[in-house]
Amino acid sequence: MSNWSRGFGVNKIFSAYTKKIPTVDVALEDYGLLYRLTESGSNPKISVRADSKEKGVVPTYNTVAEIKGTNPNEYVMLSAHFDSWDGGTGATDNGTGTLVMMEAMRILKKVYPNPKRTILVGHWGSEEQGLNGSRAFVEDHPEIVANLQALFNQDNGTGRVANISGQGYLHAYDFITRWLAAVPEDFKKGIETKFPGTPGGGGSDFASFVAVGAPGFSLSSLSWSYGNYTWHTNRDTYDKIVFDDVRSNAILAAILVYMACEDPQKTSREKSVLPATRTGEPGKWPEQRKATRKGGMD
Ligand SMILES: [Zn+2]
Repeated sequence: MSNWSRGFGVNKIFSAYTKKIPTVDVALEDYGLLYRLTESGSNPKISVRADSKEKGVVPTYNTVAEIKGTNPNEYVMLSAHFDSWDGGTGATDNGTGTLVMMEAMRILKKVYPNPKRTILVGHWGSEEQGLNGSRAFVEDHPEIVANLQALFNQDNGTGRVANISGQGYLHAYDFITRWLAAVPEDFKKGIETKFPGTPGGGGSDFASFVAVGAPGFSLSSLSWSYGNYTWHTNRDTYDKIVFDDVRSNAILAAILVYMACEDPQKTSREKSVLPATRTGEPGKWPEQRKATRKGGMD
C-alpha cells in the first residue's frame, strides 16, 4: 500500500490490503507527465515490469555487543533497531540510531575500556513488527533487566537529540540531570527535559524496558521532517542523513553511558503517580507484552 506522506513526491509504504493487485509507485515528475498527457487526450500507455521473489520465512536476530565492567553484573545499555521498513533503505529508521550507538561504543571502547558497570548495546531485530527483538531480550534476560542502571534508545530520525523524558520514574530528574551536567554545552544545547514525564507504551524499543519498570529512556531527536519525509517512506535513504547531528548524538550517548557507569548511586525505579484518564480512572503504567517470536506469522 502506498499513500501520500504530505511532502513533495513522498509516499508512505505500508502493508498491502490485498495479495492480488500490486501497487506501483510512480515518481512525482513521471506522474505529472502522465497526468498532463491524459488530460490533453494523448492516451498514454505505460508498461510496468515488476519482479519479485518469495524468499520464504527468514530468521531475524538481535545483535548484542558488550564491554565488560569491573562490576560485571550491573548494566548500562545503548539501544537502536537494526531492521527497517520496505519503502526505502531505512537510513533514518533506524540506520542513524544504529550509527549513533556503534560510534558511541567505538568511542567508549577506546577511551573507557574498563568501565565500572558492564556496557551493552542492543541492535534489535523485528522492531517494526512490534518491538519483538527487545521484548524477547527483556523476557530472556531478567538478570540483566533487574540490574540495569539505564538504557538509552534513539529512533526518530537523523536529528540532534532535543528531548529527554523521565518516562514516569519519580527520581529520574536526579540522575539524568546529574549525567547531563557532565555533557559539554555544544552537545546538549537545545535539549529539553521533562520530569517525571509519562511512561512510553510503545513507539520504539525503550518501551519494552519501561513496561517492566526498568529505566529505559528515549533520546528524542529534532524532526528534520522525519514524519513527512523519511519515516516509512520511499525517501528514507542515505542522502537524508545529517552527519553533524549524528556525530553530536554519538558523543552525547557516550558521555551519558560513561556517567551512568561511574555513578556511585544505583538509579531509582520508583514510579510516579500517573495522572488520571479523562474518564477519571487512575493512570496505568504500560503493560509488558509478549514478543512475537515468529514476526506475526502463525
Ligand atoms: Zn524505527
